Amino acid sequence: MCAFDLEHYGELLKAAGAGGYRFAFFDHEPQEGDLFLRHDVDLSLEATRELSAFERDRGVGATYFLMVSSVFYNLASSEGRATIAQLRADGHRVGLHADFPVLGLDERFDAVVAWHNPEPEWMGIPLEGAVNVMSSPWFSPETYRSDSNQRWRKGCPHDEIAAGAFPWLHLLIHPEIWVYPGDSMRETMHSMLARDRERRLEQLAADKIDLS
Ligand SMILES: [Zn+2]
Ligand SMILES: [Zn+2]
Repeated sequence: MCAFDLEHYGELLKAAGAGGYRFAFFDHEPQEGDLFLRHDVDLSLEATRELSAFERDRGVGATYFLMVSSVFYNLASSEGRATIAQLRADGHRVGLHADFPVLGLDERFDAVVAWHNPEPEWMGIPLEGAVNVMSSPWFSPETYRSDSNQRWRKGCPHDEIAAGAFPWLHLLIHPEIWVYPGDSMRETMHSMLARDRERRLEQLAADKIDLS
């Protein structure tokens, strides 16, 4: 029923329309009917570009949070730069997904930050000169839902969204979870790694490595 795939993601986006929500960026305090659509990019720029285009085709704007020190991708590479350019062209905002306590906001990002793997002691501390999306008023447990590890703590929110049950909502979606197939996080990660292997082989060939 509530699969973690693009088909159901499209239904979640449609539910937002049915519930009377409008997609909002973190450039103002929450107002009635705002849906802050947030994407933390932990693992894959490829999944990011795919989700970006998927949302663009549906007229949806989101905020993508990208890491500068990821072990999984390189934002300074040609692929990283192309990904930021596509996100901007698709009408999204780009924030920083930071490793606490190092910030490193630069001109690539809007002044908006989401900490990676946050701990309760410090996750909500406001920042000087930038919005911390987990600080008040952008975060409260009643108006926040996250798909982390394919586990909605209170169930998939699509019915509640379609019914307009939240005054406003901060919805965290990880692109990799929805773009790569799998009925569990383990399966999804294996799908991602299989796709990544193909991509790596193409990159090796493009780098003039003899694979004959
Ligand atoms: Zn659902
Ligand atoms: Zn993260």
